Amino acid sequence: MSVIESIRPHHAKLTAIRRDIHAHPELAFEEHRTAELVARHLESLGIETHRGIGGTGVVGVVRGGRGLRAVGLRADMDALPITERNDFEHRSTIQGCMHACGHDGHTTMLLGAAEVLAARRDFDGVVYLIFQPAEEGEGGAREMIADGLFDRFPMESVFGMHNWPGMEAGSFAVHAGPVMASADRFDIRVMGVGAHAAMPHLGVDPMPAAAALVQAAQTIVSRTLDPIDAAVVSITQFHAGEAYNVIPDRAELCGTVRTFSAAVQDRIEAALRRMCAGVADAYGVSIEFEYRRGYPPTINTVAEAGICAEVARALVGGDRVNTTARPSMGAEDFAFFLQHKPGAYVWIGNGPGEGGCMLHNPNYDFNDDVIPSGVAYWTELVRRLLPRAG
Ligand SMILES: [Zn+2]
Ligand SMILES: [Zn+2]
Repeated sequence: MSVIESIRPHHAKLTAIRRDIHAHPELAFEEHRTAELVARHLESLGIETHRGIGGTGVVGVVRGGRGLRAVGLRADMDALPITERNDFEHRSTIQGCMHACGHDGHTTMLLGAAEVLAARRDFDGVVYLIFQPAEEGEGGAREMIADGLFDRFPMESVFGMHNWPGMEAGSFAVHAGPVMASADRFDIRVMGVGAHAAMPHLGVDPMPAAAALVQAAQTIVSRTLDPIDAAVVSITQFHAGEAYNVIPDRAELCGTVRTFSAAVQDRIEAALRRMCAGVADAYGVSIEFEYRRGYPPTINTVAEAGICAEVARALVGGDRVNTTARPSMGAEDFAFFLQHKPGAYVWIGNGPGEGGCMLHNPNYDFNDDVIPSGVAYWTELVRRLLPRAG
């Protein structure tokens, strides 16, 4: 019997759990019901359970043998502020909130792994099951780390998994390096002197300066970065003025920066700062610039990614494991874990067609057919990372 087949007896129960979580979504740091469901389920399996880590985070501890080596497996629990458009029975019961990123499925697959690992204990060491809050923009991973996650539960490496629509259900993609981008934000305030639009010489117009900055920013990627380094600099807001006949006294620009390395983040931030200073001088305005780091890039370590790919290949066959997929320009707070520990974050196919509806879409749903593959991946990864002697 294949490993995936051995998970099948759990499939119906896990599907019910997944749909229950789907019907009761909770936003970042408000995952009280979900965290309690997770904690109670772990306790019902006889697993040592810790609540309230980094807000609503939960950690389960499963030991096998006497080994002291330890690894972490992570699932995210939060939903998104989206009104669900599906009309199936397990649709969201909460207006304006839905599991549109599949975190209901991630949580369920890790609960499934908890049950199998606790029943079999066919590994030598400690598995920390990390159920984190607030992946969507609020940095729940960062909060768990700040709350002592890695001090209280010392682990040598940490692993994540995200469903990926458009990829065949139950297939895998493993990146030996960058997998998701960083996501930073910036604000630029251009201050001039307001005036009558017919008498521009009596004011200092912020508009041409702001427009020049929009143009100049387009050259950062094309002219200052190594062409092999991928990056996006997007100015996404331009606010100024209220009347036909008034030169406003300020213009405000906002935008986002995405890339795959801290060095490129530094370079882009420095270029934007330099351009603000130069444009201020050139146009006689004053400019305030604020750059905020969001999620860092998610960069898998090569050795751990190699292990993940081997485990996935043994599970579903080499032709269903893609190790040359392009990274995504989306961001993921698993990146914070990877700043502290080696590890890898893999994609599991959510399927084309129905299951292929893109993440964050009001018609999205996690594909329950994927659950046994996800559970089997976790349990096989543990057996590979923490092998029993002999
Ligand atoms: Zn998401
Ligand atoms: Zn997600």
